[in-house]
Amino acid sequence: MSLMTHLECGLCGTEQDADRLWNLCPECGKPLLARYDLETARLVLTREEIANRGANLWRYRELLPVRDARHILCLGEGWTPLVHAERLGQAVGFDHLYIKDEGLNPTASFKARGLGVAMSRALELGVKAVSIPSAGNAAGAMCAYASLAGIVGHVFMPQDVPPLFVAECRALGAEVTVVDGLITDCGRVAAEGVRDFGRFDVSTLKEPYRIEGKKTMGYELAEQMEWMLPDVIIYPTGGGTGLIGMWKAFDEMEQLGWIGPERPRMVTVQSDGCAPMVRAFHEGQEFATPWQGAKTIADGLRVPAAVGDFLILRALHESKGTAVSVPDSDMLEAANLIGRTQGIFVCPEGGATLTAFQHLRSQGWIGDDETAILFNTGSGLKYAHLWA
Ligand SMILES: *Cc1c(COP(=O)(O)O)cnc(C)c1O
Repeated sequence: MSLMTHLECGLCGTEQDADRLWNLCPECGKPLLARYDLETARLVLTREEIANRGANLWRYRELLPVRDARHILCLGEGWTPLVHAERLGQAVGFDHLYIKDEGLNPTASFKARGLGVAMSRALELGVKAVSIPSAGNAAGAMCAYASLAGIVGHVFMPQDVPPLFVAECRALGAEVTVVDGLITDCGRVAAEGVRDFGRFDVSTLKEPYRIEGKKTMGYELAEQMEWMLPDVIIYPTGGGTGLIGMWKAFDEMEQLGWIGPERPRMVTVQSDGCAPMVRAFHEGQEFATPWQGAKTIADGLRVPAAVGDFLILRALHESKGTAVSVPDSDMLEAANLIGRTQGIFVCPEGGATLTAFQHLRSQGWIGDDETAILFNTGSGLKYAHLWA
């Protein structure tokens, strides 16, 4: 099963025992990352072996943290389609445009990847109750796997969250607390429950395994593209878990001998109303300053301060990538263009990737013969209120 060896802090490098329950690094308060025995993996695991496995993210199980297969909580997460968007490509004058459609995951967003893996590992380590402050997709995904695990899920949502998200969590059997305030207030209330009742906090990058679930997007991209990575990956970035995860996956795959040293240029997309990573990237900062008065219709991008900011910025710089912010109004227009050319009803975050693509094309930053991937991170169905 898992070839995980230990956890290592992404900033100070301190190592921890992976078979204990951890949140952030006890030395410096930054995210802990899972490390694996990739030398052994290189000997025992081949690309051909993987190709014959099930169509979900557990096909990469040696490179995931769950030690005993009985603890795997699977609703079919991962192995989403990589669509060659030919009609969209014609509309925007570009041949090699692809959409990785994460809206087809359980609970209709890619949050299912991270929480599927994190909750499986929480179950394995004996967690009885989990907690998350969330205004959307992360909550639904957590509740789905909590229910499957028989773990009590506590969700703290701001009052202005669309009713569908509350309904989803309740239907999935979680304890939902609607907090009179902003997501930051939800964080405060959730923290009290963590402190007083010992609930395990599964906020992104505040525990080591959601990123492991999301890194499988990098493995899948490579496998679905016959082990030739694209030139450009455009990723709608909130906490950055998927972007950091894919960047980690590429390193692991090179050590496994599955890909060479070439890397895609990673692009972060945020909203003009909340763009802390874009600002920090262009100012050449190592850490991002929290964004004041964050406001955007794209819930997944409303993250004023990301715990993994330095890891996002590192990946952008190392990959020779960039960061772009786009207006909310353009996201919906772009979503409609994807909808009427490709038949995919994307979330606003997915629309944002197309807007960023068009911007980078007009600047000549993406060449005619290159290959670009847009990440549609969730289904538009959950955001239908924005089209009403
Ligand atoms: C959470 C979320 C994002 C941001 O994901 P990160 O990996 O945390 O940056 C983007 N889009 C949607 C739909 C989301 O739910």
